[in-house]
Amino acid sequence: MAKECPSCAVAVDDKAETCYICGYEFPRQKMSIKIVVIVLVLVFLGMLVRILMNVLD
Ligand SMILES: [Zn+2]
Repeated sequence: MAKECPSCAVAVDDKAETCYICGYEFPRQKMSIKIVVIVLVLVFLGMLVRILMNVLD
């Protein structure tokens, strides 16, 4: 599997953390999964607050 460098458009190994041509640093996948989880938790909490506000009214 290969991925394309967004900086110089060369095909680099999927597991590579940096582009061997231009040195572009690819974002870590584990990090983006963490961000998705945090966003989902925030959305869930927002919904929970809204439901609680409706109950209190
Ligand atoms: Zn590159």
